[in-house]
Amino acid sequence: MVVKEIFGRYLEETAFINSTYDILKKYNFTSANSIASACLCRDELCQTALVQIKNIWGEVFNFSSLGGLYTAGITGLKAFLSHAPDFNGARRCVFYVFSHIGVDENGILGKCSRKGIIDSNACGALIFFLNELSKKTVSYSDVADEEQNYLKKRLLSEINLSNLPNLLELTKISLRATVKDIESLMQGFVKSDKIEYALISGIQVHYLNRNYIIPEEFIVFEEAEIRKIEIL
Ligand SMILES: [Zn+2]
Repeated sequence: MVVKEIFGRYLEETAFINSTYDILKKYNFTSANSIASACLCRDELCQTALVQIKNIWGEVFNFSSLGGLYTAGITGLKAFLSHAPDFNGARRCVFYVFSHIGVDENGILGKCSRKGIIDSNACGALIFFLNELSKKTVSYSDVADEEQNYLKKRLLSEINLSNLPNLLELTKISLRATVKDIESLMQGFVKSDKIEYALISGIQVHYLNRNYIIPEEFIVFEEAEIRKIEIL
């Protein structure tokens, strides 16, 4: 199977999200006492994850953006946390953070299938940026392109320009930058408020009209401690 050959560990997307819920129940995160969020790419191929998160956790706070970067800042995070159920001042919240990539049956990364389109790509925002990087034409000239401008600026700070990443490496860089940004902002909140949270991250892989998840980081922050959880 191409996904296993390229990525190694993987789970079918619904099974992955279901198993994160089963694991989090053991840490007392449930749909009754927690709020969930999703930080995915805007791409319609990614939205199956949002639907499944909603099926399990209830209404989902949506942080999604081009490429799945975190763009909502401290205001978005404040809003999300203030919507979490309040149990005597304690709040619980869950972050699902995914970047994404297509792969075809020949193992070509970046390729995916879409209804009515013969040759299509994912993630388009990252591929576009990567093309600019390789041609040394990265620019911010279009004022009506703020989200992509942010993506370029944020990822440029993570990239070694003398050794450009390939698409899969850029997908991982993007995911890790997003996780880092959310965790760093959360530090300010968990110090001052009674908040416990879980963060689940991975790469969504589109392969033959199905979505799979390559797990990355899964942590639970409770009682001022971070616990790392293995899902596979
Ligand atoms: Zn995308």
